[in-house]
Amino acid sequence: MMMSGEDRLATTLRLDLPSWCAELASRSRGFDDDLQKMGFVIELSRRNVAERSGGPFAAAVFEIGENRLISVGLNVVVPSHSSVAHAEILALALAQQRLRSFDLGGHGARRFELVTSAQPCVQCFGAIWWSGIGRLVVGARREEVESITGFREGPLVDDWIDRLENRRDLLRGVEVVLDVMRDEACQVLRDYVEGGGTVYNPS
Ligand SMILES: [Zn+2]
Repeated sequence: MMMSGEDRLATTLRLDLPSWCAELASRSRGFDDDLQKMGFVIELSRRNVAERSGGPFAAAVFEIGENRLISVGLNVVVPSHSSVAHAEILALALAQQRLRSFDLGGHGARRFELVTSAQPCVQCFGAIWWSGIGRLVVGARREEVESITGFREGPLVDDWIDRLENRRDLLRGVEVVLDVMRDEACQVLRDYVEGGGTVYNPS
């Protein structure tokens, strides 16, 4: 009997990262600074393109000071049939699962940062806002994502950095660092397009 999946109400949500992720993360050797962290994240994005396991975007959460890797995320929108499955969302959600808390800012003196290969879109801006993350490190800029790939970033406010750094309705701001390994991050975007990767946007 045919079951299309549409026949019944879905009550469980699963977003899986490809199996090579854990193996790549286990081979990583220490993260002393932003360059090493971004280098690792860009390697993730490059591998996601090469494996055709999703879009050309990757992210990871680290514990600040300890420089410990907490979680990784990849864009798996197409394979997981989910428009929310952006790299930043998965990295933040998996960090929260691992730490068993919805609030990454609620661990005493422990602070966490999100390193992402490209500037967060409007959805991920919201997710970062609510996540409790203390620091955001970005590779490629929005204009480059849009001009190189055709992916749209949505109606992000122009002063998004100021909004994160000086959050007036919450206790602590999010430090924002831009343009870390920007050229390398842009190259992954080009490789994706040149390799015929799917560029989707809502219809
Ligand atoms: Zn996003």
